[in-house]
Amino acid sequence: MALALRQNFTENKELTQQLARAGLGDHLCLIYENAEEQMAAVVPYMRQGLERNELCIYIADDRTLDEVRAALECGGIDVDAELASGRLAFATKREAYLKSGKFDPNSMLEYLAAIAADALEKGYTGFRVTGEMTWGLGSECGCDRLMEYEALLNNYFPGSKATAICQYNKNRFSPEMIRDVLRTHPVAILGEEVCDNLYFETPEMILGHECASKRTDWMIDGLRRHRKTERSLQKAIELRDEFLSIASHELNTPITSLKLQTQGLQRLLSKNGEHATIPREKLQKTLDTTERQVSRLSKLISNLLDVTRIGSGRMSLEPEDVDLADLIADVVDRTSDQARASGSVIKLNVSEPITGNWDRFKLEQVFLNLLTNALKFGSGKPVEVSLSSTGEKAVVSVRDQGIGIEAEDLSRIFERFERAVCASTVSGLGLGLFIAREIVETHGGMIRVESAPDEGSTFLVELPLAQT
Ligand code: ADP
Repeated sequence: MALALRQNFTENKELTQQLARAGLGDHLCLIYENAEEQMAAVVPYMRQGLERNELCIYIADDRTLDEVRAALECGGIDVDAELASGRLAFATKREAYLKSGKFDPNSMLEYLAAIAADALEKGYTGFRVTGEMTWGLGSECGCDRLMEYEALLNNYFPGSKATAICQYNKNRFSPEMIRDVLRTHPVAILGEEVCDNLYFETPEMILGHECASKRTDWMIDGLRRHRKTERSLQKAIELRDEFLSIASHELNTPITSLKLQTQGLQRLLSKNGEHATIPREKLQKTLDTTERQVSRLSKLISNLLDVTRIGSGRMSLEPEDVDLADLIADVVDRTSDQARASGSVIKLNVSEPITGNWDRFKLEQVFLNLLTNALKFGSGKPVEVSLSSTGEKAVVSVRDQGIGIEAEDLSRIFERFERAVCASTVSGLGLGLFIAREIVETHGGMIRVESAPDEGSTFLVELPLAQT
């Protein structure tokens, strides 16, 4: 018996991740056709609620409480412990929707709001409920007002500390009812997908206070939203393709140079047969170039890794006590070769130590990027790096007198893969400033730029001195 019950739940990682993005304030419907589909959504939903210390209630009707309990246990929930602590509770339709023997939408709303308020008072972070709605198929008085209730819930959930999944068995409700379920839930769980519901209508529209012009506006709005999503997906694909072509070019350049260096040495070796020697000076030059190209390659690869980490929310800081004056002097020192090659002189205005609790390695990355850019785009003119403190925050500015940036590109350059110069003229992946902004903002600081074409650029970084 127990084995048969347990087979009802199989975790679907992707669905679980999508559900984790839903939370307090959300009103979802689940339209399912069998127990597996049903439990794949509600089990992780309940588990996430318990993990977030929300008061979680499961109202069973389509399944038996034993079946639900088995599925929750199979999903890693210690049901007995959670029930004993009071964080999890089971209820039946009689204990929830039909308390007074009949269903009344307004009393039910009041009842939900009271449980949510009570949960917060008891120290829970919110209230999460999921109900198997098959009770609404019953003959009890008021069941015909189910959709009125679902519509009214949309006045309650947004901004509240409560969330719900209303579970509808597609095989037991009429198509008309399922259609109305889709009209009354802003988010719909369909199989493995949690969908922003294009067909969601406001409570006023459902409850009949709408006019034709309001419905037209709603339809046009829906079309616009849909098209906007399509466009942004198209743009993402274009950006990805462009990025791949720039990235392969960028990765290829140092590899070509490395190839040339080794071929040069091989030529020298094969020229004089067994007695071949390579002059020390030539060898040193080759090694220097090799080292430069290898570090360029490793910088490109670590930028690519950083971007994937940021994309998946995995960038974390390792803060320590850092003297920013020291760190910046070190970064300036490390760019001295590039400065010489570009013809720019770096002026450092740093008078006193400014210490804070920051991630040293990541801040080095930020300032190395700003300084490298200043030298790259600085037209060989002096570059000035200044550090000051306002008491609450440290302010670093990196100023060049180079090509500058057009007004329309000022915010774009901080986005992923965005560049304001042509890929064929200046190398780069368009990732440095995106990564820099993520690092600075994760520190609770901010980064901005002041610039005009041909008048140079000043990049300003502010970092809070105290922990935020
Ligand atoms: P990249 O590695 O391609 O330089 P970044 O994200 O560091 O990527 O910079 C994005 C774009 O911002 C650059 O391609 C360039 O167009 C512009 N940019 C950055 N710094 C400067 C600067 N100091 N002067 C002019 N343009 C700059």
